[in-house]
Amino acid sequence: MPKGYFGNFGGQFVSELLMPALEELEKAFAHFRRDLNFQREFRYLLKTYAGRPSLLYKAENLSKLWQARVYLKREDLLHTGSHKINNCLGQVLLAKKMSKKRIIAETGAGQHGVATATAAALMKIPCKIYMGEEDLRRQALNGFRMRLLGAEVEGVGGEKGTLRDAVNEALRDWSRTVGETHYVIGSVIGPHPFPSLVRYFQSVIGREARVQILRAERSLPDAIFACVGGGSNAIGIFSAFLKDKQVELIGAEAGGLSPRPGENAASLTLGRPGILQGSLTYLLQDEEGIVHEVHSVSAGLDYPGVGPEHAYLYEKKRARYVAISDQEALSAFALLSREEGILPALESSHAVAAAQKWREKCKKKNPLMIINLSGRGDKDVAEVQRLLEEKQK
Ligand SMILES: *Cc1c(COP(=O)(O)O)cnc(C)c1O
Repeated sequence: MPKGYFGNFGGQFVSELLMPALEELEKAFAHFRRDLNFQREFRYLLKTYAGRPSLLYKAENLSKLWQARVYLKREDLLHTGSHKINNCLGQVLLAKKMSKKRIIAETGAGQHGVATATAAALMKIPCKIYMGEEDLRRQALNGFRMRLLGAEVEGVGGEKGTLRDAVNEALRDWSRTVGETHYVIGSVIGPHPFPSLVRYFQSVIGREARVQILRAERSLPDAIFACVGGGSNAIGIFSAFLKDKQVELIGAEAGGLSPRPGENAASLTLGRPGILQGSLTYLLQDEEGIVHEVHSVSAGLDYPGVGPEHAYLYEKKRARYVAISDQEALSAFALLSREEGILPALESSHAVAAAQKWREKCKKKNPLMIINLSGRGDKDVAEVQRLLEEKQK
């Protein structure tokens, strides 16, 4: 495979201005992933600061209900409430080793911004977060949270500004300041080496889950479920099981309101190949290649593309991807809350719904399932309340 590709997907489709930064990052990543001190420091942060290893919890009530053995990988219990902290601690530590003086990041709803600002505060590196102005208005508390953490937050793109404007502005900043700045990308997306870099920092999820399930059940799972926005929590857990052909890997995309353009974010099940943010991958676009608007009930899945490795796993049929509607995700949110006393993030609720649908079709007796619970749902409670009240009207 040529460098930076997963099958036909990936690559570095960026302006010349960014090439030096990508090359420097690639070299540093190749060096530090083999550096024992770096690995030791990263593991120490994951353990003492983020709270790893995360639990693999057997959901007994859900297991009884589904007549299966259902385990939850509890990324929701990590500091800041999701798997995003794994990647942010890794990238900010790498930036520190590269003697970068400054961290930047883009954020949509604010979760990646908060996790980046957290890691930057911990490691004492000045941090600037770009966020669309409309997003900043809708998620005002996350803007304030990042400022409390010492980050500078800049609203971009005018009144209608969203994630895409934030990415463009962050890339513009990076191409001006590559010497002193590291750009923390929040998922397994973007130009090489980001998809590999983020995969590396998130693969701890799968390594732990593999050991934990073998210890608990003495066998590998029949199926693993994870939600897919850009795809980092999914790659994180899938990566340790790719060679075990008997383990089904199932990604849950945002089916949103309907399969109509603009009403979902199901890039693999409804999209086709094209170039988005420096990478050749599946994306939602019209005949002329104009990228669609996207919608999902969960802000973290609201992205028109997907990481190139997922495009590869999809075409190779090593993983399957299903679209879960807003309604199905909401029902799964309610189910897990009631059955297990765990409020899942709306993103993670998509994975729970995919698991439920899989179980309904599976003929196997008492199958063994792992659901990656990528984050906690406290951030979504107000939105869920609004949607449930709307439904009652
Ligand atoms: C951001 C986020 C996601 C989506 O990102 P991936 O890169 O697809 O993992 C999923 N779940 C939670 C809780 C998130 O915060």
